[in-house]
Amino acid sequence: MNMQKRILVTGGSGFVGSNLCSELVKDGNNYVIALDNYYTSNESNIANLLVLSNFEFIEHDVIEAIDLDGIDEIYHLASPASPKQYQKDPVFTFRTNIWGSYNMLNLALKNKARILLASTSEVYGDPLVHPQVESYWGNVNTIGIRSNYDEGKRGAETLFMDFYRQYGVDIKIIRIFNTYGPKMEKDDGRVVSNFINQALNNEDITIYGDGSQTRSFQYVSDLVNGMIRMMGSENFTGPVNLGNPIERSIKDFAQEVLKLIPDSSSKIVFKDLPKDDPKVRKPDNSLAKEKLGWEPGVSLEDGLKKTIEYFKDIK
Ligand code: NAD
Ligand code: UDP
Repeated sequence: MNMQKRILVTGGSGFVGSNLCSELVKDGNNYVIALDNYYTSNESNIANLLVLSNFEFIEHDVIEAIDLDGIDEIYHLASPASPKQYQKDPVFTFRTNIWGSYNMLNLALKNKARILLASTSEVYGDPLVHPQVESYWGNVNTIGIRSNYDEGKRGAETLFMDFYRQYGVDIKIIRIFNTYGPKMEKDDGRVVSNFINQALNNEDITIYGDGSQTRSFQYVSDLVNGMIRMMGSENFTGPVNLGNPIERSIKDFAQEVLKLIPDSSSKIVFKDLPKDDPKVRKPDNSLAKEKLGWEPGVSLEDGLKKTIEYFKDIK
């Protein structure tokens, strides 16, 4: 009899998904199935996993239902995550989050599987409460250029809670704050990959607006650790914030990147601030600490050094 836990990871070839799969396969008791349509990723992120006997890949779009058997856990990550990518085809993004969550929840219901939603700090919108606590309902523009993603994730959270209350599905919701690390796509438009690659290529560092807006950056191994803890938790649906509380202005962040790439001749330039760009963002992690015993441990400097090495290697 096969006693391996069968774990489905949607969005499994993406940045976070491939890092999560790499961690999950390490436990010989897990059999990991990554599912993805390669919308914002490609096979290179999982090439090292495809050779393993406890890993398999299914190319599939979560907007379409899928029938799988014997699944014990689902990490539901499939969705474009970078503003540049989610705004490219907003209707696709919204459908991915709503249709995709509906399909994966039905799969969990059929399999009696536990299912975790990768939600986002974007559900807080341009927050009026700072730092953001899970009990804050947010300040989201329902008709703006970010709403396909923000409202898509908010709708996904709603579906998760309703499948929990109505059908008893064993759900978990995490709200991820800005995360970075190896296996990010170098041109997906997020600030960390942009600034590092601009600095490595001696191109202008593009700050949007005056750079006074803030973000709090989390290294991917901290997130993966928090996700696995959340999946293993009992009697706790969340939502729970997973992020690094150390907050920086985007201008300071640009300086930090330049400090770590000292031979770069890049200059900082200022571009228009995109509409609805949140002015501040920082997680309150008290709940994650209390319920999961989780806190991020990787400093921005250490995480950035690893990420810079990764982008140098794939150049
Ligand atoms: P990513 O773009 O690298 O990965 C997303 C993956 O989902 C990609 O491989 C993409 O091809 C896949 N995908 C998209 N639409 C799909 C569809 N319809 N069917 C199947 N696959 C599809 O982004 P990421 O940073 O790894 O984000 C992963 C998840 O975490 C997303 O749900 C995102 O919203 C969430 N999240 C990430 C961050 C972050 O800072 N990285 C922050 C908040 C939330
Ligand atoms: N940003 C920037 N220059 C870039 C890319 C992003 O100044 O080249 C800013 C962006 O306007 C935002 C912050 O950096 O204020 C984080 O952007 P990102 O797209 O990484 O994620 P967000 O948190 O906005 O979803």
